[in-house]
Formats: sequence, structure tokens, C-alpha cells
Amino acid sequence: MHGFPLFCIFALTNKTMRIDIITVLPELIEGFLNESILGRAQRKGLVEIHLHNLRDYTTNKWRRVDDYPFGGFAGMVMQCEPIDRCISALTAERHYDEIIFTSPDGEQFTQPMANTLSLCENLIILCGHYKGIDYRIREHLITKEVSIGDYVLTGGELAAAVMADAIVRIIPGAIGDEQSALSDSFQDNLLAAPVYTRPAEYKGWKVPDILLSGNEAKIKEWELSQSIERTKRLRPDLIQKIDK
Ligand code: SAH
Repeated sequence: MHGFPLFCIFALTNKTMRIDIITVLPELIEGFLNESILGRAQRKGLVEIHLHNLRDYTTNKWRRVDDYPFGGFAGMVMQCEPIDRCISALTAERHYDEIIFTSPDGEQFTQPMANTLSLCENLIILCGHYKGIDYRIREHLITKEVSIGDYVLTGGELAAAVMADAIVRIIPGAIGDEQSALSDSFQDNLLAAPVYTRPAEYKGWKVPDILLSGNEAKIKEWELSQSIERTKRLRPDLIQKIDK
């Protein structure tokens, strides 16, 4: 039921994916990227995640990456040169499917976008800071601008970590059972059905009988009906997308 064609595409692609993240604060997300499912996916050779400290690409002795904005506005803006030098160094080595800039005014990050990006071979994710980056980088080097939601963060690192997590966990082999990733919320625009584990009764709170029945067909039917009911109740906007 869930995402069968997507799984077929996955099965055909078995190259190691590479994600290069450019940031002024690599230490902010280094731990996150090397733990749990992302860490395991890297150790299994399913993905390589490289962090690049933008300050390594500066040419001034203070390793400064920002300057005052033209026009007398408040705040600081990340300069073109270090970003251009870093991206050029990476693109000289290999072709990138997308050069992504994390930005609150970008396209909203969604599960379908994560699915599409997980099929890419090489991705760059550039994290902004301060007031943002010199717009000329966005005009000339960036191929995709992505927001993780309608709020403003202090930097793009959390956005890059969110994207890397959502992208990597659906690479086949990253989590034990691919079917499990494909039955998560938002695949097929449906929210996931509730899940339960042992004991079957806790403080008098019971697991639905059907899940203990061993009747696989009936359980599948229950799972789908729960997904539809929860989506209609909690996210009617998603149901409208299915109807279209
Ligand atoms: N002045 C900018 C916000 C800068 S916030 C504006 O009003 O649009 C600093 C950096 O944090 C941004 O350049 C971006 O890289 C990152 N960022 C902030 N909010 C984000 C969001 N919702 N999604 C993705 N990146 C975000």
C-alpha cells in the first residue's frame, strides 16, 4: 500500500550518497550527524557527510566571513568570497545534483522533497548566519533554496541537520526495515497509524484487540483505516492532496 513505486526506485540505486554541509559552526551539528541512524548509515557506507568550516576558505588573517550590509541596514551579511571558494573547491571535484541554501524564504521542506533528494548522488547544503548571505551567491551559485518552516532560526545548521536526517533515513538499509520508513507519516500523504508495544495491558490501558489477533489482512485493514481517520481529523489538508 505505502509507496511501492518509491521503493522500486530505491532498489535500483545503490551508490554511496554524499552530502557536503558548509557552515561557520560545524561543531554545532557534528555530534548529531555522527550518532544514531545517520552515524550508522555513514559507517555502513550508505552515505558520506562532510562538514566544511567556512572560515577555512577565508583569505583574511581574522578568518572573518561577514561584513556590514550595503544600504546601512542593521546586522551582518556573509560575504561572497569564502562561500564561492568553498563551493568552487567542491564542484571542481565532482558534479552536484543540487547546491542548496537553507533560508526561511525558500521552498518548504516536505517528505516528497526528502524522497527526491534521497535519490541524488551529491548534495551541498549551505548554512546561512547573521542576516543571511550576499544575494549574489543565491543568484549565481545556489540551485535550490529550502526552508524548514515559517519561523526564523539563528543559523542554517539545524535546518541542514533536519534535512540530512530526513533524507538519509529513507536510504535503503539506513533503518533496519525499509518498509518501516515507507509507512511513516506523509508517505502517500497519510499520517501513520498508532503503534503499541508490550505489555498488551498497562495500568488497565489496553492495546486494540485487532493487533493481538494475528490476522494480518485485518490488521492491514485496521492500519489503513486508522491512517485515514487520523489524517482526516488532524490534517484534512493532506486528504485534499490525495483526492487531487
Ligand atoms: N534575514 C533573514 C533571516 C536570517 S536567519 C530573513 O529574514 O530571511 C540566518 C540564517 O538562518 C539564514 O540565512 C538561514 O540560513 C537560516 N535559517 C533561518 N531560518 C530558517 C528556516 N526557517 N529554514 C531554513 N533556514 C533557516
